[in-house]
Amino acid sequence: MPGNGTRMKQDNNSPLLRPALLGENAKKCVRCGQCMSVCPVFAQTGLEGDTARGKMALIAHYRQTPGAEQAKRLEQALGRCLLCGACQDICTAKVPTLASIAALRTKGLEELGPKTLVKLQVEALTSQGKGSKALRGAARLARQLMGRSSDKSPGLFLRFPATWFTRRRVAPKLNEKPFLESAFIKNMQHPKPGAVGYFAGCGANHIFDDSAKAFLSLAKKCGLAVYVPKEQECCGMAAFAAGDLEAAAKSAAANIELFADRGLCSIVTTCATCGSFIQSWPGLFPENSPLHARAVQIARLHQDAADFFLQKSCLPEIIRNSKGFDPPLDIWHHRPCHQRFSKAATDGPRLLLASIPGVNIVNAPQEVSCCGHGGSFNIRHYDISRKIGADYASRIRRKKAPIITAGCTGCMMGLMEGLMAGPTEKDGPPDERILHPLEVVLQALE
Ligand code: SF4
Ligand code: SF4
Repeated sequence: MPGNGTRMKQDNNSPLLRPALLGENAKKCVRCGQCMSVCPVFAQTGLEGDTARGKMALIAHYRQTPGAEQAKRLEQALGRCLLCGACQDICTAKVPTLASIAALRTKGLEELGPKTLVKLQVEALTSQGKGSKALRGAARLARQLMGRSSDKSPGLFLRFPATWFTRRRVAPKLNEKPFLESAFIKNMQHPKPGAVGYFAGCGANHIFDDSAKAFLSLAKKCGLAVYVPKEQECCGMAAFAAGDLEAAAKSAAANIELFADRGLCSIVTTCATCGSFIQSWPGLFPENSPLHARAVQIARLHQDAADFFLQKSCLPEIIRNSKGFDPPLDIWHHRPCHQRFSKAATDGPRLLLASIPGVNIVNAPQEVSCCGHGGSFNIRHYDISRKIGADYASRIRRKKAPIITAGCTGCMMGLMEGLMAGPTEKDGPPDERILHPLEVVLQALE
């Protein structure tokens, strides 16, 4: 936190950070209160400090009267945020609330100690940090000893849900092997001219490899050349959300090196969170730097996989000529916050699903809300995260759809936890299946 020793070190020329760190963004807030009506955290807690308005007031106050006590209060308030972007989207004064909250979380994890569960999970899932391999090995062993899985679930259900150990009933079920180390991408290491680049993201790499495999299978059906560099790293969002902006920029730079200037027709993601952060990469680098220019190039080439298939492939025609689902298939389609309120906003996944013969999407677009996951928020504020997810899950359940789709790996976990934590809470997988939209498309064609 600024004013607290070394924590201003990350103040650099990045256009995303400078105004936030100087408190300039917070001064733009006119306290209209619009953001209170959309904040999922405030809806559960009723605390002003949980809203963007409250956070902006704390930032402005801290800038005027810095001190250890104010820094602590501010740091806590900034941590209680899903980074969903709903406040920024509705803000009448165009306050860049997300950049302010994320930038001022700088080194926020230090309040919990240097190696907290949150930081370890970020390292494990992003393949960063010295302990990541050992931690993933330990997680696999723990999975065999303590977990049981289900075909319906992207999660792992605890065999012994002992309350002294954990209140959780579901944990990520890791892929047997990281997707980026699998044989599926062996022949995709050198881009052919006009190939489509695929950015897998940590969720597909470590947990939801079926979503990545579905993308590759559909690209193959369309006869497309795909480039999937196995050295690609986390998009940087996990580090950014945790306040480690240097690590976020480092990850982005490594990925830019792999994807820029390769003659690609598009760079595609299957996770909304990765997609939204790729759109933010230019903001991590000074405006006149070569890295900024290359980040802009990548952001322009980026598309969600559904948009890519709809606009640049023969998949719509293949779908039109397919039998689809008979009997018809009811689906609740969840549109992730990062596809509603970010620069990567799109309704492509819904449109692609709706084009499948026999698919019936049971919810209207405006019925969607935040799943409550929010990455490290789910770990630091598990009870609030669970309540947000449970409220949403009870709305989903009323429509009785057997399939729930989401084009974001974080949301897929959030939906699973929500369905497990609602009024019908039970000790095992829910009756609904949670799938990536591309998995449903592939099923329709097979
Ligand atoms: S980003 Fe979302 S959770 Fe955070 S303050 Fe804004 S609306 Fe609330
Ligand atoms: S909507 Fe924007 S201007 Fe209004 S209170 Fe929230 S942050 Fe401030």
